[in-house]
Amino acid sequence: MRVVFLGPPGVGKGTQADFVAQKYEIPKLSTGDLLRESVAKETSLGKEAKGFMNRGELVPDAVVIGLVEEKLGSPECHKGFLLDGFPRTVTQADQLSTYLTSRGEALDHVVYFSLSKSEIVRRISGRRSCPDCKAVYHLESVPPKSEGMCDACGKSLVQRNDDKPETIESRLAVYQEQTAPLTEYYRARSILVELDGAGLVSAVQDRLVALLAQPRVG
Ligand code: AMP
Repeated sequence: MRVVFLGPPGVGKGTQADFVAQKYEIPKLSTGDLLRESVAKETSLGKEAKGFMNRGELVPDAVVIGLVEEKLGSPECHKGFLLDGFPRTVTQADQLSTYLTSRGEALDHVVYFSLSKSEIVRRISGRRSCPDCKAVYHLESVPPKSEGMCDACGKSLVQRNDDKPETIESRLAVYQEQTAPLTEYYRARSILVELDGAGLVSAVQDRLVALLAQPRVG
């Protein structure tokens, strides 16, 4: 299975990506996670990406494409993969298509997560995560058992720099301008399926499993 998760930030892609990766035993490639890892390790790529990420802007295409192609080339991705947060521009989508075609492969599904703006802002503002094991919580919907502490490893939870109120609006604007056109891009290729991202994590999961069970549309 080769799948892309598309949709605005905060819509639940990462949460559902972990579930799908486990259920279908395919690697999850989240460009946001890979970039945050590079920033934390202070690699040269991380140093280049950091400013863009903190401002809520996209990291340049060439940097992200290189990162993804390196991962897709590894043996663990040969049987399938789930891309979370990539592609985010038409250039990235074109490059992905060229890369897969050169290997005689194609995407099976592009799942577009839809959600109202007010719910997106609510989800992003309340999101907290563990810097160590990366577990993700929400202050109201999925609170940790002890306030501010990770259930799994006891570390203090943090708010992502780019989840602060001043950055949320610019990330949503960047999404509208640069990533939203990809819904039409993939719809025109008869590969887009739409998922209602509202409601409980388990309800979204059930809808997602039903969608992924459908044969490839195009
Ligand atoms: P995410 O965790 O998917 O919300 O990504 C966090 C940030 O990483 C984004 O706001 C961008 O700055 C950067 N980023 C992640 N994926 C991409 C991508 N495909 N292209 C460019 N920048 C990206």
